[in-house]
Amino acid sequence: MSTIWIKQADVVTLDANGTILRGVDILIENKRIKHIGTVPENTQANEVIDAAGYVALPGFFNAHCHSPMTFERGWAEDLPFPRWLNEKIWVAESALTPDDVYWGAALAACEMIRCGTVGYNDHYFYMDQVAEVVEASGLKAMLAWCTFGIGDDKEIGPGADKQLAFSWEWNNSANGRIHTSLGPHSPYVCPPDFLKRVIVLAGQHDLPIHLHVAESQQQVDNSRERYGQTPVEHLNTLGLFDHHTIAAHCLALTENDRAILADKGVYIPRTPITYMKLAMPVRTPVTVLHESGITRVALGSDGPASNADMDMLAVIRQQVLLEKYSQENPEALPGDMALRMATQIGAQALGFTESGVLAEGRPADLILIDFNRPHLRPRHDLIANMVHSAKGADITHVIVDGQLLMRDRELLTLDEKQILREAEQRAFRMVRQDMSRVREYQD
Ligand SMILES: [Zn+2]
Repeated sequence: MSTIWIKQADVVTLDANGTILRGVDILIENKRIKHIGTVPENTQANEVIDAAGYVALPGFFNAHCHSPMTFERGWAEDLPFPRWLNEKIWVAESALTPDDVYWGAALAACEMIRCGTVGYNDHYFYMDQVAEVVEASGLKAMLAWCTFGIGDDKEIGPGADKQLAFSWEWNNSANGRIHTSLGPHSPYVCPPDFLKRVIVLAGQHDLPIHLHVAESQQQVDNSRERYGQTPVEHLNTLGLFDHHTIAAHCLALTENDRAILADKGVYIPRTPITYMKLAMPVRTPVTVLHESGITRVALGSDGPASNADMDMLAVIRQQVLLEKYSQENPEALPGDMALRMATQIGAQALGFTESGVLAEGRPADLILIDFNRPHLRPRHDLIANMVHSAKGADITHVIVDGQLLMRDRELLTLDEKQILREAEQRAFRMVRQDMSRVREYQD
């Protein structure tokens, strides 16, 4: 039996009452939290962590990303979204190999663990390789093979059938740490007949659907022209929201769209750093989603080509600042809500429904943050310090399903040195190849 005894931590539980405990012990037995508060004196533990001055928090769930895009970090800068896709991203991805994806995902896994992420929702290509990384790293994930449905010559990988089959072949693997979903790219790329096929498969295999929706007003206008409906109305008519759906972005919504998304319980991950970096207007802010009864708003990093890193503390802080600033309202999006979006709501989106709360009996998916640092004192308000002052580098320990993935900032499951070297060499090689654009973005 594996046991970890964390001593004297301050605990931000994120339970329904927002309970915060000061200077208490946590005992983890196998995959779950056995005690929070006091631990029986005669307890034997394999690992004892002296956490005086540290804060324990549920680990972060990154609800939307494309993790192997670490290869394109810093390679597509200062461009508008259509040129960013057409001239850089979809060009580089034409030269992508399965091995590249493995090393890109491994680089992302190192980064995510270092920044306190315990689970992530990945949407990319050659997902067998990403699944191998999840398995080795000890992380949790929901994985979808991004599929376009516009002809197998335009897919990345073995063609739509095999890509979709990835989802039922890998679901619940890695001792249940891997969940899968179906990953049609978006309503602006995928034809309706293909989306209908995905919807049938989601029903047959009981799988969620993860896609991009309504990223710009232009996409909404074009959808109206093409289908006589907004993207949300179009997907709703097809029946897509009758399944567990994760609809990333949803930046331009009508009142009717918001009513549909609230009614259907759709998860909406927001990736604020991408919006600001690519100057994508947020016409429907988080505040308006919440006011419309959409409670399932989560947070993600998006790919490192558009965000530049996968640090969820940075995402949280930027989302809170963006919301307050754009709403001209300092009361908008309080810190406690932002932390819940980045932890338990993301966990629910990924199907890890018990994670995201520190309580007895819950999965031991948690992180420790060292508050013995000048920028984290005084400790009037642990949540405020976490949201507005803490950095990814303050996170010292990461535990997933009771397994330590990082101890005192040392990665325990991945060979970081080799991954840094191999990933960078491959990324350089990828962008040097003769590349051709595989498809063209039009809103
Ligand atoms: Zn995305």
